[in-house]
Amino acid sequence: MAADTIHTKETFTTTTSSTENITTQVQALDIKNPHNHHQHHHHLLHKYNTTETDEADDDDDDSCCARSPVTLGPSPSVAKEHGLARLIKNNRAWSKAIKERQPDFFEKCSQGQQPKVFWIGCSDSRVPENELLQLAPGEVFTHRNIANVVVSTDLNCLSVLQYAVEVLKVEHVVVCGHYGCGGVAAALGDHSYGLIDHWLGNIKEVKAQHQDNLDQILDQEEKCRALVEINARNSVLTVAKSPIMKAAWERGQKVEIVGLVYDIQTGLLGELGYHLKNVEDLKAQLSVDSSTLFAARDTIANTRS
Ligand SMILES: [Zn+2]
Repeated sequence: MAADTIHTKETFTTTTSSTENITTQVQALDIKNPHNHHQHHHHLLHKYNTTETDEADDDDDDSCCARSPVTLGPSPSVAKEHGLARLIKNNRAWSKAIKERQPDFFEKCSQGQQPKVFWIGCSDSRVPENELLQLAPGEVFTHRNIANVVVSTDLNCLSVLQYAVEVLKVEHVVVCGHYGCGGVAAALGDHSYGLIDHWLGNIKEVKAQHQDNLDQILDQEEKCRALVEINARNSVLTVAKSPIMKAAWERGQKVEIVGLVYDIQTGLLGELGYHLKNVEDLKAQLSVDSSTLFAARDTIANTRS
């Protein structure tokens, strides 16, 4: 992995001057390697992008596109160049293209949602759950925040969890961390970023719990990858410990919590090895000590190929 995908303290400090507000700071957390940026989005410029809808594109009839129209949205970089008018135009083209493929798609959407997956992920624009899972609107329920942190006092996240489990009755609660996470990288350092420090403090607590094992990883990038993984694990455990999951499992509801990690350099998901289907699974995970956890990192499914 290129060193510049990790957001160093220096990069972050340079990006945020004292006159910029917290929104800018949050955005700056995830500025990535500019060499990859354009490339990363370019492949998304399929026929639904208005720059291409006027062009002949009749060969694009693969089943993937037919199944998941949402994956063919406009390139964020293009949208940025052309402002709001461009966004609206992109939206019109997207809607039109979907209706051409499935005329009753939006009518069916309006009748309700029955997603099987509840996704808890990072707000990072490079980790779009619908897109990377190839799921259409209506197929994944979502909560995203900086660094996919789940805290037992976060009414926002817990409300979404409750709705997902008790009303929508999702079958999978996915907690997905991602390598190159600016929030995790920031939590790894000592720099102060203002208001966001309170949020990052949750990750710092996880870090402190595993400090000895993290200290043994000398490579900073690898250390960040490790913290990404254990931060996601911590969120998995916090979800599992919630009264919402406890009650669901007690009444025999089939709902599983899984931990994944996404690699923004390859576009691949890896499994973190957590599949919690009941309270016993949670207890088993809670009994794993930090050293065993770090020793097991080699078994994480490869996200590089
Ligand atoms: Zn992130």
